[in-house]
Amino acid sequence: MAMTCPRIDEVDVRVYTIPTDEPEADGTIAWDSTTMVLVHARSGGTIGVGWTYGAAQCGALIRSALAPLIVGQPALDTGRCFQAMVAAMRNNGRQGTIGYAISAVDTALWDLKARLLDVPLHRLLGAVRDTVPVYGSGGFTTYSDARLTEQLSRWVQVEAIPRVKIKIGQSQGADTRRDLERMRQAREVIGSSVELYVDANGCYSRKQAIRVAHTATDLDIRWFEEPVTSDDLEGLREVRDAVDADVAAGEYGFDLYYFRRMCQAQAVDCLQIDASRCGGITEWLRAAAVAASFGLDVSAHCSPHLHAHMAAATPNLRHLEWFHDHVRIETRFFDGALDPQGGALQLDGSAPGNGLTLRESDADRYRVS
Ligand SMILES: [Mg+2]
Repeated sequence: MAMTCPRIDEVDVRVYTIPTDEPEADGTIAWDSTTMVLVHARSGGTIGVGWTYGAAQCGALIRSALAPLIVGQPALDTGRCFQAMVAAMRNNGRQGTIGYAISAVDTALWDLKARLLDVPLHRLLGAVRDTVPVYGSGGFTTYSDARLTEQLSRWVQVEAIPRVKIKIGQSQGADTRRDLERMRQAREVIGSSVELYVDANGCYSRKQAIRVAHTATDLDIRWFEEPVTSDDLEGLREVRDAVDADVAAGEYGFDLYYFRRMCQAQAVDCLQIDASRCGGITEWLRAAAVAASFGLDVSAHCSPHLHAHMAAATPNLRHLEWFHDHVRIETRFFDGALDPQGGALQLDGSAPGNGLTLRESDADRYRVS
């Protein structure tokens, strides 16, 4: 007999601000703390968890505007809930904080649905694999040479991750000499067989990005992320045509039209998508399909434990970003955190949902609302 669809009884939000382990910066911004907005969606005695890393205001927005739309909806109807949120927010602007808030709720609802059905989330989504390749990501411009060496060595020698990414574009692109020194240092630390990626966070000009890439030809850079601002699609294309590395961007995409424009402009070799911004699992899967229609791979941007299951259900996935700042938070906050040993996350598929349980005692000390 078909089950009666349970209803969503409660959407609860908690906001945490967690200090970084040391000051962090990329080419265009510096930070010393990270805010996580965590959503618990409950149906009866079953609770799903999702989150975003965004402004604390996401929490207030979810409480006041999104939760009332979701409570009472059929708990299996993730699409209905997503549409209700997007429609209600039309006049407030889907881009920005509202997109982050919708994403946090959507990811919690998918986890809830999988737990209600008692299946692992990647199986519910239609898994195409049980292992998800990762790349180590960090290498902040604020790091000392010793700290950079230590972080890269851990990924490569201890965890056996075969691809790593560092930030470049120090001081808004004003110090390419140090960028090149750090790229050279990274190559020396990781050896010749590990893939080296760089992320300029959009700080270079077109010609500057091309000059940096050409100067670093002997370093075999495989991935050049946001060499110029990702708003400059022609610029990304120009750099892409001029360098050997794959050009990647897309972390600021909030809707399908954004991703389609980026693909159509032939601006990237690999499209990055961030489910904590673009609209959760619902929109991530559709954005990945947009990329597939252009013959492109996708890569999951940050929030590794949020992305692992949808990544396993995405045929054109290249890899997932094992981002230092978020790894630190997620492994501290959750029981069931994943292990990148060997360069891939193993989803063995016994636990329902995303397999994560909040360790409240560890999280509470960082709670701000
Ligand atoms: Mg980036």
